[in-house]
Amino acid sequence: MALFCDVCLPVPLDQPFTYALSGEARDVAQPGCRVLVPFQQRKLSGTILRIHDEKPDYKVRPIERLLDQEPVFDSKLISLGLWVARYYYAPVGEVFRIMAPLGGEIRRSKAYGLTDTGRDMAKQSLLGIVDQEDASLVVLQALESRPMSLEALKRKSPEAPALIREFLRKGYVRMEEEAQEKDPLRAHASKLNVEMLAGAPEGKLPKWERELLAYLHLHPGVHPLDELEDIVKNASQSARSLARRQLVKLTPRVGAIRRAAERPRHALNASQQAAYQAIEAGIQRKDYQAFLLQGVTGSGKTEVYLSAIEAALAMGRSALLMVPEIALTPQVAGQFALRFGEQVAILHSAFGDSERAEYWRRIRRGEARVVVGTRSSIFAPMPDLGLIIVDEEHDGSYKQEENPRYHGRDVAVVRAQQIGATVVLGSATPSLETRQNSERGKYVRLLLPERIEQRPMPAVEVIDLRQEFLETKKNALFSRRMVEAVREKLAFGEQAMLLMNRRGYSNFVACRSCGYKVECINCSVTLTFHRRDRRLLCHYCGYAEKVPVCCAKCDSEHIQFIGSGSERIEEELREAFPKARIARMDRDTINSKADYEHILHGFREGNFDILVGTQMIAKGHDIPNVTLVGIVNADIGLGMPDFRAAERSFQLLTQAAGRAGRGGLPGTVILQTINTEHYAIRFSAIQDYELFYEKELQFRKVMRYPPFASLANVVIRSERQEEALRMSGEIGEVLKDFKEGIRILGPAEAPVPRVNKEFRYQMLLKAAQRKRLGEALDRVRACAVERNWPATALVIDVDPQSLL
Ligand code: ADP
Ligand code: ZN
Ligand code: ZN
Repeated sequence: MALFCDVCLPVPLDQPFTYALSGEARDVAQPGCRVLVPFQQRKLSGTILRIHDEKPDYKVRPIERLLDQEPVFDSKLISLGLWVARYYYAPVGEVFRIMAPLGGEIRRSKAYGLTDTGRDMAKQSLLGIVDQEDASLVVLQALESRPMSLEALKRKSPEAPALIREFLRKGYVRMEEEAQEKDPLRAHASKLNVEMLAGAPEGKLPKWERELLAYLHLHPGVHPLDELEDIVKNASQSARSLARRQLVKLTPRVGAIRRAAERPRHALNASQQAAYQAIEAGIQRKDYQAFLLQGVTGSGKTEVYLSAIEAALAMGRSALLMVPEIALTPQVAGQFALRFGEQVAILHSAFGDSERAEYWRRIRRGEARVVVGTRSSIFAPMPDLGLIIVDEEHDGSYKQEENPRYHGRDVAVVRAQQIGATVVLGSATPSLETRQNSERGKYVRLLLPERIEQRPMPAVEVIDLRQEFLETKKNALFSRRMVEAVREKLAFGEQAMLLMNRRGYSNFVACRSCGYKVECINCSVTLTFHRRDRRLLCHYCGYAEKVPVCCAKCDSEHIQFIGSGSERIEEELREAFPKARIARMDRDTINSKADYEHILHGFREGNFDILVGTQMIAKGHDIPNVTLVGIVNADIGLGMPDFRAAERSFQLLTQAAGRAGRGGLPGTVILQTINTEHYAIRFSAIQDYELFYEKELQFRKVMRYPPFASLANVVIRSERQEEALRMSGEIGEVLKDFKEGIRILGPAEAPVPRVNKEFRYQMLLKAAQRKRLGEALDRVRACAVERNWPATALVIDVDPQSLL
């Protein structure tokens, strides 16, 4: 009986492909194993979803090779992946590709292979039938055995590049993309650890290998390979050779998590204790249970997480803590390492491929029973997962803004349901959806209504910038009160944070004579002036150009810089307070995780007096000496054409304010705005989430936005405007008779009509029933497939977080 497997591949076609299994693979392959398979002219790696004996009625090709002896995904993770693909309208293969960070083990390369014509030509020239010069003959002959890369061919003949170009033109060869396994042992010595294995060498070993073995024998344990190179000559080379003989083991090195400084363990206060007990009882039941842990800023949510994880471990279960992208610092990881030691694994998108893969394998083997990670850690292959915590569940970074467009928090809830685990969503400012779910009884709400040790919430002073202007006749960035407050804190040796949620120096550049604004050549947005590199920069696509000396339209020299960003705040602050030590944190000063930690660490240690920054500074940091938070412009974001604008502003302002007064000293917040009456400003000023929630809920209900409707955004993109317009018209047509139970806005130009050279049209679908939304989206997708649209033309964003 023949055996077949259905494999999902990372291609836009949304279907599995069937291949034949033979030989050893037949006995070993299981669903969840990865395979290398031929696909069109290429070799691709994919995941087996199903093994069966149903012979399809077309010619089935055999798999090239089985990549895993053990499945990478168990049946639960396979069903989770399938759910994600279905719910988010994402190609299955792309979902499975991002579910395990093992892509780094596959090398993608270009190779050239003979076409049938090329093969004939090679034969004929070998037989001397056609006359080929020497170099061509060499290259054709080499390719007869197998497809080869240009590098390999160059070693055969220096003329290979020119010849290949010629052969491509004549149709003798074609280019193939080749997926190939990387040999992990070929990594650089600084990335490998070496360890001796029991076993005696057969035969005599070369001198250096013997020396290395002798050293390892005397010094048992795991050694960084590059350090051994300083001790034993040729250690790296010897180790690789010994590894092939199975005498030593080489493993990829992962950075040790530095433990946080030892500090007293806090006894939980009454509300923390109550929350903890509810969660613990949930884990005990070994059944699905969901909680919303709603605790004001500084109420000690982390301590509840730590205790809950401890409880899960004590019950023999493992635990996953998800945190927002930017919040996962070595400091946070260190806190967990301090409590749980070697059992902690970190999954962060900023880690290198081999490090992520190694952590992933440890998790798979059940060695790391506590995982702290960002969005994609929700797919971590943890055995006995009993507890999933999503910290700052409202955070936008949980939604992936490219394919597959899943929401990490929502997948967390689904995974908990599938495996019978407890899930805890924590926040001081829960998303409307989550808060509403607790109201509907889907989640049990646990409250931490007060700060630790009854510390007061910071006092917020709202400064009306319009009034300030009337009184001072000056359009200053900092109000008099802001300057005074900063001066006061500096005098007391306390620290301040200043939020300016826009980077760059000036918001945009305009001509005073004709009003022309300098726009990006690829996107329909204005360019932002960045002073340090004297450039205008596009925040959408990264395009940069020099600052113009005169207007491109009217030649006038009256070029004006309008609005301000974090770079300018820093500069004006330095002018106002020349003695203060100031650091800035935004995407221009932070290029890596190390920069981020460096600045934060320095600030925590008291090396800076003031930290200026974008929303990056508002996320989760607990720095006790910060007693002042200044919000320079609370209005950025409020005017965005997005129904979540108010919610996002409220969350940002409340979280930012929450950074003040977390230690023994009370905190002050100065909030500058021209929208003093706006409810997002008023309620964040009194830090009252519940009032905001009630008000916002009314708006959502009237406008039929989530949580009162299911939403999907359908975007059509093309570099050619007519084409984008035509396709969006066709989608509109397809949905024309689709009125019942669904509201369709558009097709219309997207709020930013052009990004990265592509014109964008969008259609917003709102449905009271998710099923109805699905029916409409099915039609949309069928339309794209029938008409053979390019894969990138149609974007379906289910539960969109941003409509821009
Ligand atoms: P949140 O995440 O809710 O804003 P954190 O978890 O960062 O708050 O806690 C705020 C501070 O309170 C931290 O410095 C933490 O060590 C401290 N803390 C937490 N629980 C207690 C407790 N029961 N007693 C004293 N201090 C505590
Ligand atoms: Zn002009
Ligand atoms: Zn651009």
